[in-house]
Amino acid sequence: MEIKTVILRYMKMKMLHPFKTSVGVEQDKDFILVEVKSADGKSGFGESVASIAPLFHEETVQTNWHMLTDYLIPLLLKSDIQHPDDVSTIFSHFRGNYNAKAAIEGAVWDLYAKEQNLSLAAALGGTKKKIEVGVSVGIQETEAKLLKKLEGYLEQGFRRIKVKVMPERDLDILRAIRSEFPTIQLMADANCAYTLADIDHLRKFDEFNLSMIEQPLAHGDIIDHAKLQAKIETPICLDESIHSAEDTRKSIELGSTKIINLKIGRVGGLSESKKIHDLCVQHNIPLWCGGMLEAGVGRAHNIAITSLPGFTLPGDTAPSAHYWEEDIILPEVTMHDGLIDVPEAPGIGFELNWDMVEKFMVHSQVFHRG
Ligand code: MG
Repeated sequence: MEIKTVILRYMKMKMLHPFKTSVGVEQDKDFILVEVKSADGKSGFGESVASIAPLFHEETVQTNWHMLTDYLIPLLLKSDIQHPDDVSTIFSHFRGNYNAKAAIEGAVWDLYAKEQNLSLAAALGGTKKKIEVGVSVGIQETEAKLLKKLEGYLEQGFRRIKVKVMPERDLDILRAIRSEFPTIQLMADANCAYTLADIDHLRKFDEFNLSMIEQPLAHGDIIDHAKLQAKIETPICLDESIHSAEDTRKSIELGSTKIINLKIGRVGGLSESKKIHDLCVQHNIPLWCGGMLEAGVGRAHNIAITSLPGFTLPGDTAPSAHYWEEDIILPEVTMHDGLIDVPEAPGIGFELNWDMVEKFMVHSQVFHRG
C-alpha cells in the first residue's frame, strides 16, 4: 500500500447527555479524525479516543495531536507499509501513546480493507453478521432517575445493562435495579474506585448475580485483582489494566481476570486487538468491546472488531442516536432488537457525512509523503 497523504481534523461535538463516571463528567467530545490517502485517491479513516483531560488514560487529545504530528505521521510517511500489521511494528519503539497509535493505525486498516475490496470486519477475520448491543449508564442523581432510564433502554432492546458504581453509590443502586429487574444481564463498572481494603464490601456484590464487575481496583494493577478474584464470586473483567496482549497473558496466568473488555484505542490498535482476541479464545476468556463515547468512525471500528468470534458478550457499541443529535457517518449506526448489522461494504462500511465533518471541525492539518 502506498500512503501519500495524512489529514488530521480536530473535531468538537456536543453529546446529547453528559456522561458521569467515578472519574468525572463528559459533555463536549473533542477528538481527532484521521484520514490516510493512497496514491489512487482512496481514503481510510480512524478516530482518536482520548479525552480532553487525562482521567481515563494518561493521554489527552492534545498529546495525541503532538504524537501524531511530531512522531507517528512523519514515520508512517517515510515507511514502506505492506500490511496494516506493519504499522504497529514501526510504531513499537515509541512507548505507550496507545490512543494516538490506534487512531492512525485504524485509518490504515480501513484503507487496506478498501484496497482489498473487503469489509473491515472481514479483513480482521470477523465472522458475525450482527453484534449484540449493551448500554452503559452513567451515575445518576437519584435511583428513581436511574430506574426510569433503564426501563427506557430495556424497551429499546439493549441486551445488557452496565451501571457505573463508586463507593457509597453501589449496593443501593444494585439492590434497586435487582428488585425491579431481577433477571436482566447486569454488570457494574467501578473505573478503579476501590482498593483491597474493600474486599468485604465487594463480596457483597455477589448477591446481585452480576455478569461481571469491571476494573474494581487501580488502573494498571493485575496483582491485587488476582487477590480480589480469589475472594469474590463475581467474575472480574479488566479494562484499564490491559494495554497489550502481554498484559492479557499475564492477567490470565495470574487469575486477575475472567473476562476482557477490549478497547481498540486502549491497546494501540486493531492488530494488537486481534492478538488479544486470539489469546483470549485460546484460554476460553470471553471478550466484549468497550466504548469511549466514539463518534461514527470509531463506532464503525468497534463494530468491525466485535464481529470476531471471541466477542461473545454484548458490547458498549450503542447506536449513534444514543449519543449524538447528528453523527459524522452515513448512514448512522442503528440498532434493531438489540442488534447492530455488521456492514458488508468495503472498509468501515459507512460514508463520511462531510457536512457534519465540516460543521464540527475546529481546525485541520495536511501531511504529504516526501
Ligand atoms: Mg470500564
